[in-house]
Amino acid sequence: MKAMVLHEAGPVADNRLILEERTPAELESDQVRIKVEACALCHTDLHTIEGELYLPRLPLVPGHQVIGRVQDVGPAVNQIKPGQRVGMAWLGRTCGQCRFCKSQKENLCEQAQFTGLDFDGGYAESAVAWADFVYPVPENIPAVAAAPLLCAGIIGYRALRLSGIRKGQRLGLYGFGASAHIAIQIARYWDCRVYVFSRGDKHRQLAEQLGADWTGRIEEPVPEKLDAGIIFAPAGELVPPALAHLEKGATMALAGIYMSDIPFLNYDKHLYHEKNLRSVANSTRRDGFELMQLAGEIGIQTTTQEFALEEVNHALQLLKAGKVNGAAVLKISD
Ligand SMILES: [Zn+2]
Ligand SMILES: [Zn+2]
Repeated sequence: MKAMVLHEAGPVADNRLILEERTPAELESDQVRIKVEACALCHTDLHTIEGELYLPRLPLVPGHQVIGRVQDVGPAVNQIKPGQRVGMAWLGRTCGQCRFCKSQKENLCEQAQFTGLDFDGGYAESAVAWADFVYPVPENIPAVAAAPLLCAGIIGYRALRLSGIRKGQRLGLYGFGASAHIAIQIARYWDCRVYVFSRGDKHRQLAEQLGADWTGRIEEPVPEKLDAGIIFAPAGELVPPALAHLEKGATMALAGIYMSDIPFLNYDKHLYHEKNLRSVANSTRRDGFELMQLAGEIGIQTTTQEFALEEVNHALQLLKAGKVNGAAVLKISD
């Protein structure tokens, strides 16, 4: 099978990934082999390839937003059948034993293994996953469109959950990239009023097309207090003004892995009256299963730009330069 392989971390401008023909790995008893149809690119892939994340093993096949069909299953696998359509996400495996795993916080597991970092991911014609960590993917969404759901979508959904937003309430979204454009479709499905803050004209236009009730820049006054908010942009300077938008007792969730420093907060203006500020880290399997179910019900749409497997270096360069329209997705097979 063909795979795009990282041997040494470094700038994506140097075309770090090399096309190789590989022998598929043997399956362990609780694993499944997936014929990959599509794999979306994520900013975390850039951090992996450029060596900003610690790389436990090389060579490595990156990619953690994988859609495909199950080809083979190990002897201990019952719940997943060959031919089934599934997805692989960033959370590749957890220990099941630690205090986080035992308290529904497996996203914080100390021994978690991540797809495309601790083991090979989806920049390849086939990939191996632990059966307990793949998600059934609805058939009504094409593979390329479904791939960004596996990271951008799951994080957006978890951020919605952690923001405490309820049906019919007022939600603020700060930054409008891959995660937000999925989260807004769920929020609209829940009849929420959605306020989108973005510097980009195109992003605000897309937000309006997807049903935003109000769009504007962070400097603009908001017509009403918000019941919950999510900051997707990695910009700490958004935190104080966004907190000032919140209703008493409301939560602001920070959906990014990275954020620049947060400026001083004024206790009375930004936090008093029981406002909450919380980050979102990774996701649990519950997030993945629930999102996939919702995506099928809603028929979630994603904006994507397609590339062939061999074009991944170019696609990564465009992603780094912010020149991808929507999510970059490798279309690997039909
Ligand atoms: Zn990701
Ligand atoms: Zn654990």
